[in-house]
Amino acid sequence: MIAIIKQGVTDAQIENLTHWLESQNLSVHLSKGEYTTIMGLVGDTSAVDIELLENLEIVEKVKRISEPFKSANRKFHPNDTIVDVSGVKIGGGNFAVIAGPCSVESEEQIIEVAKRVKESGGTLLRGGAFKPRTSPYDFQGLQADGLELLKIAKQETGMPIVTEIMNANHLSLFEDVDLIQVGARNMQNFELLKELGKTNKPILLKRGLANTMKEWLMSAEYIMAGGNENIILCERGIRTFETYTRNTLDLSAVPMLKELSHLPVVVDPSHACGVSKLVKPMAMSAVACGADGLMIEVHNNPKKALCDGAQSLTPDEFDDVMRRVTKIMEVVKE
Ligand code: PEP
Ligand code: MN
Repeated sequence: MIAIIKQGVTDAQIENLTHWLESQNLSVHLSKGEYTTIMGLVGDTSAVDIELLENLEIVEKVKRISEPFKSANRKFHPNDTIVDVSGVKIGGGNFAVIAGPCSVESEEQIIEVAKRVKESGGTLLRGGAFKPRTSPYDFQGLQADGLELLKIAKQETGMPIVTEIMNANHLSLFEDVDLIQVGARNMQNFELLKELGKTNKPILLKRGLANTMKEWLMSAEYIMAGGNENIILCERGIRTFETYTRNTLDLSAVPMLKELSHLPVVVDPSHACGVSKLVKPMAMSAVACGADGLMIEVHNNPKKALCDGAQSLTPDEFDDVMRRVTKIMEVVKE
């Protein structure tokens, strides 16, 4: 439910109303725009007397929200959310590029890739330490040691770091991680999402392998319900009958989600396609349809990569993608 507040109302009046609503076991989200202030009410709103609320002097209108996702809903929060990842902003016109290897493999590898990615205009460094692999016999990542190497790369380059969490028990290891990734396979790991909701860390929530946009937004809602609203959605392709590509990149999700939600949306063409030559055209298309950022896998020697080499770009290829993407961005902005 949302209550649209009249113009010219004082902060004290808003606070009074907030206390009154909170005393009815509702949580109140305030969204102050340039012209409109909206109060979003979450919880069991069935007992709320709409007429009573609407007749209050400071309330313009009350509306029920029919979608099951509330906090993530644009009706609650008409302005774009801008997520600040240790100084790098994403959303609301701020574009960010997350780049780096699928997995952290060694100190030399991560530092070399980090430096090259930064030189080309990448803004956040990715690298998997805990890897969700289909086979238990495949490389599982350097785990805690991988996180240490990412921190060294951060010290060397100043780039904030992004890496995947698979188990809430590992949260203490992630204190210096700037943006915590929830991978596709864990999008509906609700216990993990609830734990992340208790932190104030920015979260990159990837779309599940076969999940609808509504299910994805409900997963964001799990994190937001705990009080953490710093969420970036990441489209990474969904399972279809197609086999030439690893997944099918659902670019329609970008404008659709931006209409439904205020959260930033980034696109990962690497996991979507699984083939390095498709990364450039899909990255350009993602920017053209309004994505707030990209996630791209870059490896100093893709042929020798321990994970996802076929979809990884060389630093030179990444540099070329950045140049093309920047051009598209200029056109889109006009
Ligand atoms: C990744 O980003 O390394 C990854 C495993 O991606 P996804 O969860 O989208 O498969
Ligand atoms: Mn990967």
